[in-house]
Amino acid sequence: MSRFFIVLLVGLLLKISMSYGGVTAAERLGEAIQFRTVSYQDRSRINLKEFQRLHTFLRASFPLVFSQLEVETINDYSLLIRWPGSDPDLDPILFTAHMDVVPIEPGTEEDWEYPPFAGVVADGRIYGRGSLDNKQGVLGNLEAAESLLAEGFAPARTLVFAFGHDEEISGKQGAKKLAERMREKGWHFAWMVDEGGMVISDYPLLPDIPAAIINVAEKGYLTLTLVATGEGGHSSRPPELSTIGRLSAALERIERNPFPTRMVGPVAAMLETMAAHVEQPTRFFFDNLWLTSWVVAGIMSEDPMTNSFVRTTTALTMFNAGVKENVVPQRAEAKVNFRLLPGDTPDEVVSYVTGLVNDPEIEISYDQWDKTPGISDYSSGGFTVISEAISAVYPGAVIVPSLLVATTDTRHYIDVSDNQYRFHGMLVSVGQAASVHGNNEYLGVQSYENAIEIARQMMILGTR
Ligand SMILES: [Zn+2]
Repeated sequence: MSRFFIVLLVGLLLKISMSYGGVTAAERLGEAIQFRTVSYQDRSRINLKEFQRLHTFLRASFPLVFSQLEVETINDYSLLIRWPGSDPDLDPILFTAHMDVVPIEPGTEEDWEYPPFAGVVADGRIYGRGSLDNKQGVLGNLEAAESLLAEGFAPARTLVFAFGHDEEISGKQGAKKLAERMREKGWHFAWMVDEGGMVISDYPLLPDIPAAIINVAEKGYLTLTLVATGEGGHSSRPPELSTIGRLSAALERIERNPFPTRMVGPVAAMLETMAAHVEQPTRFFFDNLWLTSWVVAGIMSEDPMTNSFVRTTTALTMFNAGVKENVVPQRAEAKVNFRLLPGDTPDEVVSYVTGLVNDPEIEISYDQWDKTPGISDYSSGGFTVISEAISAVYPGAVIVPSLLVATTDTRHYIDVSDNQYRFHGMLVSVGQAASVHGNNEYLGVQSYENAIEIARQMMILGTR
């Protein structure tokens, strides 16, 4: 059969599967957006009924998934779905996404083309909070599974889907509980694929070629609390050094002494992959990182956009002291948030910062963050499957392994999965990606349909 006919056939099948019941995949995503599954830092503000309503909607929308596969609700609001494979000797694979979304910043509703929870499908786009982050991940995986079930597809390898409900506020009630359940059941995955990577249409170094970013590692997360205590009292008789002055001086030392730059494996792999597509002399630098990595890291550290790729970053985020203008406070407190490069440990950060502060009157404490995922294999296994799935839909795309500079639910699954990848197959522009957690979040209808096809391909190719 000619390539043309294969493409036509796949397109036709896809059309049929995407509009069953007279409703298209895009319209179903639009409907899912209407459930206000909003995560608030203050958990008492969360409307948990919306999650149950979303579950009811999913059950009605994906009847084959919810009748033929093993479905379990975890901790009332998260979903665990298992599609048993025919060969129990093959390690299963795991597809994850999250059902919660971030709130709309008060006063910004007017900046949206369509109301954020209306789920409007118009102008070839699906508008609304969660269209990118991350209801397309939940619905896209379900669309893929539903259509494969309709076609009678039977995987050799077991597939598991895990959809958390509080990723945006740590994942402790969702992904963490889902992973606990997996451990109880003794499940262990060859690899998993979560949110956190996508196909970028105008990636800065590759503006003319779609770049499929598969994140094979992510940065660690650590917040230190610094407290200065000392003599307070009336401001008419101030101490020589106040708690505010002492703490400010320490913070200034921390900010002025960033961690050294370093080129980690996934970032080097990203640059090496792009080398073939960029002009000289950049190509030479990317091709010869054994020689040039320190220069390249230095250049990257000068732009806040790329700085996070080459160092453990330091961000002063909170400062609290004082209750009244004429009282010198006895206590000043600050928080500093660090994002750690793979390989840097919280202990190393604490000892580096303690050295910089060098003041026994300042107490440094921290809550240990969960384990940070390691660097996953980016030459074989799941990485190859995801790459082939992308190439099936975007034949010209450059597949780029990279480092995610944010955190996801992925870290909760590290001890149940040998490798962790972060990639959902939607095609977006850099500007559009910036709408995640911001205004006017939307996903192209075609881009969504392609993402579903990539998810289908991952399931077909991954379960061989
Ligand atoms: Zn997300």
